[in-house]
Amino acid sequence: MKPRILITEDEAPLVQMLRYNLEKQGYEVDEAGDGEEALLKVRENPPDLIVLDWMLPRLSGIEVCRQLRRRMETRNMPILMLTARTEPTDRVRGLDAGADDYLSKPFTLEELSARVRALFRRANPAVADERLVYGDLVMDLAAHRVYRGNRDVVLGPTEFRLLRCFMERRGRVLSREQLLDAVWGPDLFIEPRTVDVHIRRLRKALNAPGELDLIRTVRSAGYSLEAEKAAAEAPVH
Ligand code: CA
Repeated sequence: MKPRILITEDEAPLVQMLRYNLEKQGYEVDEAGDGEEALLKVRENPPDLIVLDWMLPRLSGIEVCRQLRRRMETRNMPILMLTARTEPTDRVRGLDAGADDYLSKPFTLEELSARVRALFRRANPAVADERLVYGDLVMDLAAHRVYRGNRDVVLGPTEFRLLRCFMERRGRVLSREQLLDAVWGPDLFIEPRTVDVHIRRLRKALNAPGELDLIRTVRSAGYSLEAEKAAAEAPVH
């Protein structure tokens, strides 16, 4: 099951951008355009986390936050507050109202994802630890499933272990011998060429036509998980 995030924000372009990026990271996203709608959606279908803008029509983010904290069922729901105001007093007011964390606009999508991940870790350390995320690639270790964006990636057991090995050592070049040790175990004698066969299968499953190849071949050295593109670096206003 993917963690659900409710985005409460009245600026449609920002909602769209947040939705696109959070879905790419394997979250399920719901949205509310004002404070009252947010409270309604929380009641109907409680999310696992709320991204809550301060300035909202009908009911302000602060008021939504207070009401959620008053109710038993939502008392511990992680809330990440967004705001265009930057004065320190407002930051204090936001945290006073019960927000768990606070992000002032403009922020980068990287910052937002980092805060979201941190809140999930704090709220549910066990679940957060069972997910490995790299760009739009998500490995759910508990459910033994892999997603790239919204697409299910179906892997055989060896490819699954290979990918996990890469995800846990992202950015590092791993030699065929290191991969053999990590995936097949040091006691088994397997030809290094076998690694190439499974890398090929992994690549085929991971990369749909037109998608960025996530596995980099480093000549005479081995393979690594391709560095993330810096597309998410532009600040969001
Ligand atoms: Ca707003």
